[in-house]
Amino acid sequence: MPELPILVIGGGPTGLEATRGISDLGYQVILVDKAEVLGGNPISGDYASITPQLRSAEDSMNDMIAAITDNPLVDQRLATTVVAAQGAAPALKVTLKNGTGEEVLDVGSVIVATGFQHFDPGKETQMYGYYEFDDVITLVDVERMLKGGTFIRPSTGEKPKQVCFIQCVGSRDRQIGNYWCSKVCCGVATKEAIEIRQMVPDCRVFVFYIDMRMYGFWEDELYWKAQEDYKVNFIRGIVTEITKRGDSLLVKGEDTTMGRPMEVLMDVVILSIGMEPSEGSKEMAKIFDIPWSHTVSSRPSAEP
Ligand SMILES: Cc1cc2nc3c(=O)[nH]c(=O)nc-3n(C[C@H](O)[C@H](O)[C@H](O)COP(=O)(O)OP(=O)(O)OC[C@H]3O[C@@H](n4cnc5c(N)ncnc54)[C@H](O)[C@@H]3O)c2cc1C
Ligand code: SF4
Repeated sequence: MPELPILVIGGGPTGLEATRGISDLGYQVILVDKAEVLGGNPISGDYASITPQLRSAEDSMNDMIAAITDNPLVDQRLATTVVAAQGAAPALKVTLKNGTGEEVLDVGSVIVATGFQHFDPGKETQMYGYYEFDDVITLVDVERMLKGGTFIRPSTGEKPKQVCFIQCVGSRDRQIGNYWCSKVCCGVATKEAIEIRQMVPDCRVFVFYIDMRMYGFWEDELYWKAQEDYKVNFIRGIVTEITKRGDSLLVKGEDTTMGRPMEVLMDVVILSIGMEPSEGSKEMAKIFDIPWSHTVSSRPSAEP
């Protein structure tokens, strides 16, 4: 057993699970999070439910937090971050900082679990009009609505009749440098499509995708259920522009299965925004000299 504790930075799902696993093995853990509460994005982003059982995100995270709370092997430090580090495993000196000052600690190793931030859909993908049209919203906006027990058209407060999701917003996009697949947005969009159909059975729901990436259990437990039981329409297509026509949103693009242009009217458009490394992840990469490969510039060129 190492004599020095293990430092876990970030108390979202990853850091909580790492803390539980390490303490179960009998090692001491110092868990730091810059936020004042544990739980990461599912809590700070107000997620309504977690796949695949659509269990409350708050209950799921509370169970993970309870599993490490009151454990004498776990020292929780909230509203705290790491500002400096020296040495290497198994003997590092790390400087923690909180509102009351700095403290240097000896730790044996470090797990960085500082997570992600949601892609800002107004940043580069202006053609979707996120900051222009009230009825263009994101997956996270939908989570907040569902958590409040409702799904409405923001501009009118009424139940929508026709809604679509646009996949891969801010992911798999080489032009803006985010060439990665965020891996969760297909599953989350499908989950939300089911929840919308449950809440507003008269509403038709479409998902425009490049290709659906339903990892693991999501394929059986969400994708086929959405198609067969909830009649969600999955359409392979590319959306190039959203404009206003009357009270509706006009979604223009191409149906890539049929190879023809498409124009459809929607009451609400939901952007399936992906994930970008959080500021904390970028800072920790610098402090701990962690290789940073997720940029176009450091990716090996495809040119011969
Ligand atoms: C809309 C949406 C819905 C989702 N729904 C599901 C779902 O149903 N099922 C599912 O499995 N996944 C879902 N996901 C994915 C899930 O949210 C992530 O996989 C998960 O949150 C990743 O956990 P994490 O701990 O790695 O990161 P995060 O949740 O981002 O947590 C990182 C933690 O690190 C802390 N931190 C950041 N910087 C610092 C710093 N400098 N110092 C100290 N602490 C720091 C943060 O405060 C935060 O607590 C969803 C994602 C989105 C976008
Ligand atoms: S929408 Fe699907 S394919 Fe696109 S980035 Fe997200 S998970 Fe990957």
